[in-house]
Amino acid sequence: MLNCDLHCHSTASDGLLPAAEVARRAAANGVTMLALTDHDDIGGLPAARLAADEAGMAFVNGVEISIEWEGLQIHVLGLAFDAGNEALNAGLATIRAGRIDRARRMSAELEKIGIRGAFEGAMRFAENPSLISRAHFARYLIESGVSKDMRSVFESYLVPGRPGYVDHRWATLADSIRWVVGAGGIAAVAHPGRYKLSPRDMRRFLADFKDLGGRAIEVVSGSHTQEHVGTYGRLANEYGFLASRGSDFHGPGESYVDLGKLAPLPDGLKPVWEAF
Ligand code: AMP
Ligand code: MN
Ligand code: MN
Ligand code: MN
Repeated sequence: MLNCDLHCHSTASDGLLPAAEVARRAAANGVTMLALTDHDDIGGLPAARLAADEAGMAFVNGVEISIEWEGLQIHVLGLAFDAGNEALNAGLATIRAGRIDRARRMSAELEKIGIRGAFEGAMRFAENPSLISRAHFARYLIESGVSKDMRSVFESYLVPGRPGYVDHRWATLADSIRWVVGAGGIAAVAHPGRYKLSPRDMRRFLADFKDLGGRAIEVVSGSHTQEHVGTYGRLANEYGFLASRGSDFHGPGESYVDLGKLAPLPDGLKPVWEAF
């Protein structure tokens, strides 16, 4: 049976394991095809590919691009692109540059409620300092005893309306799709069930995504409920999107789902991996 996991993270972004270890763990878990999809950075791909080759597991290039659509932070996956593409690399570099500035502003906001040293504290968790993420801040808030675990961090901090959240301009939806498609890849909506969009706005978003050249949507995801799988499976067919499957694994003990340990795609959908 095919066990494709097309969404996970390494220390090249906010995962806990180095890229090669992510690939070895996936193979040990029975994954037959892996895409490493670090946030806004593709530096982990060569090491992951080498380890996948050694383990006899198929590997495709991946990235999870942070974008903003009508004021909401949304994630677009790029799959099976040419990692040497200049426009893609330059685009990702601009997002990373914005992350440092955002991290300083987040830290200043936390300082106002008495949480000191968050920028430096989060940076200690970031193996790739140009890819500082809210996950690194969350680890610092747990380490310093402010919150007890990831879930409670994201209930009380770092999200809209809570301390430590700041507005930020990410790439646009059009940028992200242009970079991925321009590099010969397929753009997919990551974990659509996570966004705070009404059903009507979700449809407007999917229509925009399709008009701009997006071709796929994650249906089975580590952050989806069974109900989400049904909803986004139906929307995939309605919009003519290919369907993807990914754990969104960040590390042992920190993720809901381990690599490859998720339900198969429902019948009647077109798997994105058949288009690679
Ligand atoms: P950023 O890209 O810097 O905005 O950070 C987003 C990252 O924070 C996500 O990719 C997750 O790693 C983490 N994150 C966001 N919300 C949650 C949540 N509710 N539970 C656990 N991790 C989260
Ligand atoms: Mn993350
Ligand atoms: Mn995401
Ligand atoms: Mn992810």
